Amino acid sequence: MSIGENLAAIRSRIEAAAERGGRNPEAVRLVAVSKTKPAAAVIEAARAGQSVFGENYVQELVAKSAEVKEAVEWHFIGSLQSNKVRQIAGLVHLIHSVDRLSLAQEIDRQWGKLGSRADILIQVNISRESTKSGTSTRELLDLVRAVAQLPNVRIRGLMTMPPFFDDPEGARPYFRELRLLSEEVAAAEIPGVEMKELSMGMSGDFEAAVEEGATLVRVGSAIFGERHYG
Ligand SMILES: *Cc1c(COP(=O)(O)O)cnc(C)c1O
Repeated sequence: MSIGENLAAIRSRIEAAAERGGRNPEAVRLVAVSKTKPAAAVIEAARAGQSVFGENYVQELVAKSAEVKEAVEWHFIGSLQSNKVRQIAGLVHLIHSVDRLSLAQEIDRQWGKLGSRADILIQVNISRESTKSGTSTRELLDLVRAVAQLPNVRIRGLMTMPPFFDDPEGARPYFRELRLLSEEVAAAEIPGVEMKELSMGMSGDFEAAVEEGATLVRVGSAIFGERHYG
């Protein structure tokens, strides 16, 4: 199937899942994860109506975004080193993967230099797998309170990556947990903090994520095909 056909199939699965979850399908945005894929794949997807793209690596994002002339929105979803923040300042619309104060401080500094504000999500490591990034659920509120003090950073919600399961139902409790955590943060009514976005769900489990409240699903291989790392 072509990228356009894959996108159409995923959009209709998102709609069906939203309806099953009693949600408005328009409340769910598809982030097409284009890491390791060429700019030509992004352009093909953009021409098929896809407007939001997610990337994991700074250098790759910088190079690819320079090649894509279509009006697209780039999201950064990978683990981010503070010394690379400068390169994506102003280029990305949303950073999904902020997991520590030092990173948020650097984002604040770099966006501040541009006279603008960065929209970010806090990544939570619900499963506590040591291989995954993310703040612990225990430290989440303290991190949100600290980041909320930064003038050039706006917290818009939470992101998580559950452990891998063959059966997507395995991920569902983690999606539910992220939604509950976002309700807890919202209830704390921290000035300037919004809990509008829940970034959760990938190729293998995005339908369960949508049923559980995802507003951003990050889907790569189901759109662009398997990735082959060099
Ligand atoms: C690669 C990646 C995805 C997409 O994974 P697929 O299984 O290809 O859909 C989503 N989120 C993050 C953080 C990723 O690194």
